[in-house]
Amino acid sequence: RFITFEGGEGTGKSTQARRLATHLRALGREVVETREPGGSPGAEAVRHVLLSGAAEPLGPQAEALLFAAARADHVDMLIVPALAAGRTVVCDRFIDSTRVYQGALGDVPDGLLDALEQVAAAAARPDLTFVLDVPAEIGLARAAGRGAVADRFEKQGADYHEKIRAAFLARAAADPARCVVVDASGDAHQVAAEIARLAAERLAP
Ligand code: C5P
Repeated sequence: RFITFEGGEGTGKSTQARRLATHLRALGREVVETREPGGSPGAEAVRHVLLSGAAEPLGPQAEALLFAAARADHVDMLIVPALAAGRTVVCDRFIDSTRVYQGALGDVPDGLLDALEQVAAAAARPDLTFVLDVPAEIGLARAAGRGAVADRFEKQGADYHEKIRAAFLARAAADPARCVVVDASGDAHQVAAEIARLAAERLAP
């Protein structure tokens, strides 16, 4: 099974991905936790280039190619082998982040993103995607509160974050068989319980 977590900054994706992995292990599954951009040594190297600002001179299309390069390596080196070995893979961000950040926000044409997705991710289709949803103000406050040094994608205002939120919700609405939107504005414990419940329901044999 391949489960992905998507959403904007401060939605709690990373925390919830970790909690679901722990929960599934307690049920006896072998779980691989991973993230994008990154997840394999080659893809982590590309992540560093993307998030450090070193890639800032690149235009949106060239940047999309780098994200796709990272994904191709991650899928081939980590995700596909893990799924083939019968493990459950829980990934923090995947194809929907590309459609939102590079597509809806970056104006990279859908045709190019379709082609890149075909090359980089055709071998790994998520079975279930949790789209974590919080109002932009809450997400921004959470991201600021954890004292994280904002990467170059995070140095934007509330309007930008509301756009991201709307784009994720549109993605989820377009593929309801795969995606489920979770209200992540509540307490992390309750959100985790809701996600565990939904995972059991959605992944029941
Ligand atoms: O998951 P995390 O918030 O650490 O993601 C790192 C950054 O990479 C985010 O700020 C996000 O905006 C950006 N990103 C992106 N395009 C993707 C995936 C992530 O711009 N496809």
